[in-house]
Amino acid sequence: MAVDSPLSSPLGPPACEKDAKALQFIEEMTRNAESVQQRVLAEILSRNAQTEYLTRFQLNGATDRETFKSKLPVITYEDLQPEIHRIANGDRSAILSAHPISELLTSSGTSAGERKLMPTIKEELDRRQLLYSLLMPVMNLYVAGLDKGKGLYFLFVKSETRTPGGLLARPVLTSYYKSDHFKTRPYDPYNVYTSPNEAILCPDSFQSMYTQMLCGLLDRHQVLRLGAVFASGLLRAIRFLQLNWRQLAHDMETGSLNLKITDPLLRECIVKTLKPNPELAQFVRHECSKDDWEGIIVRIWPNTKYLDVIVTGAMAQYIPTLDYYSGGLPLACTMYASSECYFGLNLNPMCKPSEVSYTIMPNMAYFEFFPHEPNLDSTGFDFTCELPPKLVDLVDVEVGKEYELVITTYAGLCRYRVGDILRVTGFHNSAPQFHFVRRKNVLLSIDSDKTDEAELQTAVENASHLLREHNASVVEYTSHADTKTIPGHYVVYWELLVKDSTNSPDNDTLEQCCLAMEESLNSVYRQGRVADNSIGPLEIRVVKNGTFEELMDYAISRGASINQYKVPRCVNFTPIMELLDSRVVSAHFSPALPHWSPERSQ
Ligand code: AMP
Repeated sequence: MAVDSPLSSPLGPPACEKDAKALQFIEEMTRNAESVQQRVLAEILSRNAQTEYLTRFQLNGATDRETFKSKLPVITYEDLQPEIHRIANGDRSAILSAHPISELLTSSGTSAGERKLMPTIKEELDRRQLLYSLLMPVMNLYVAGLDKGKGLYFLFVKSETRTPGGLLARPVLTSYYKSDHFKTRPYDPYNVYTSPNEAILCPDSFQSMYTQMLCGLLDRHQVLRLGAVFASGLLRAIRFLQLNWRQLAHDMETGSLNLKITDPLLRECIVKTLKPNPELAQFVRHECSKDDWEGIIVRIWPNTKYLDVIVTGAMAQYIPTLDYYSGGLPLACTMYASSECYFGLNLNPMCKPSEVSYTIMPNMAYFEFFPHEPNLDSTGFDFTCELPPKLVDLVDVEVGKEYELVITTYAGLCRYRVGDILRVTGFHNSAPQFHFVRRKNVLLSIDSDKTDEAELQTAVENASHLLREHNASVVEYTSHADTKTIPGHYVVYWELLVKDSTNSPDNDTLEQCCLAMEESLNSVYRQGRVADNSIGPLEIRVVKNGTFEELMDYAISRGASINQYKVPRCVNFTPIMELLDSRVVSAHFSPALPHWSPERSQ
């Protein structure tokens, strides 16, 4: 029931008093975006005034925007690497932040093949929690009755390590789920999960997924929403069900838990609730043994109102598969966040995926925007004019234009380029709303992995060394992220020059080339292959000689300039895929897992 509150929000009638306060907060922040941004910048600059970083640029205690913009450079991760190394190695002095660095968050973005490390401070957890606390009040405006059931969310912790200086290094979500903010969250009828904390916090991904799925099945009539962080994660859960429903049904039938669940706390927690339920076991067997899994989500969880997963950016490739398994349930993308900073939320979460816009919350950090035009090179410098373009403030961005996000955070990142390209779609009060366009320089992505053109090039070069003993080489290549199978995998199309047809590369050699490519890819890719099982074996498809020339002819026939034509290093357009696939002479898969360990290589 909507509450008629004196705090009633222009966003709509809130579902309860608590929601009213959250919606009111969104209103206040977005109405006063400009003054909130000024305050945030002043807070950050005054508290960090004595840090080595701000002292270096002679800010001399200034907290105003003009001085800040005139003295501080716009930077990338690589510029900060010396400072981050010192922090990782145990230098506790105030290098970037006056507050002690509490841990390093391992981003899925990489630098020199390794995950980027983002320094963070304790109070950032409060800021992240604040953003989370706004999501359900917004959702309750669009979907009624979410307090009458539960959410089945597949949430996982990942491996963590210690840096040489003793700081924890782990992903931001692992840090959040392990925090008291999450573990001892107060009961909220709108936010009840089927997964117990013990299942979410179990570091073994099989045991965690198995028990989360089991609890979701036991509570199947109560489930009102189903989700994971990214679309790829939810599909991995469906795949898990395909592979494990027999054992899950057995556990339900007998009321005894699979012996593979060995984590003592987790076992104890599940055994307490697991009672023989032959009827449910029979139902699960009946549904899962069908050849056709279309609509399986609504068949098993008939009261699901929407799927809560990110399907914007690289995840858009999974929309058709999610539609297939869910019978077209609405897909809600609720928030936009990163290891560096949580940015904002979607104020219209039931809209179509193509229409998703995120409203950046002005209290989270100080935001600037680098105009992104096609004639800007990767440094952002426009060589057609004399001066680098000016960064634009949050309230000054223009509808329809694209920008790269630049942040200044409480944890000490100053004018840091995030690498995301956003397009302004409109405003909520004076806070702009953004469509996530893409991440810069990402060619291939299946899960959280991001492979750029240079990494792919190096991988192809390294692998092609193995062709030398066959007196062969790769003359052209391109790639595609194949997400038709779960998990998805990288496909690399190779056209070979074989000088001696009696000694052309055999299947063994080409399989080893697949593995060599995997070994060359970054650590997030290799972790996806080895630990998370979120990426399948890399595939090389050898195509007939002349295929890439045909590709060029095709592009030219569609208007490409013959002088400027470059082989696309990644292809997604169906006619091109069809052309390539019709010329395949052989396909080869990586025969083993590449190396990966949670420890960083340097
Ligand atoms: P990480 O640093 O590993 O936490 O990854 C953060 C990055 O994930 C962001 O900079 C975006 O590129 C991407 N990302 C996060 N949220 C979204 C979203 N809602 N839609 C599209 N991409 C997202």
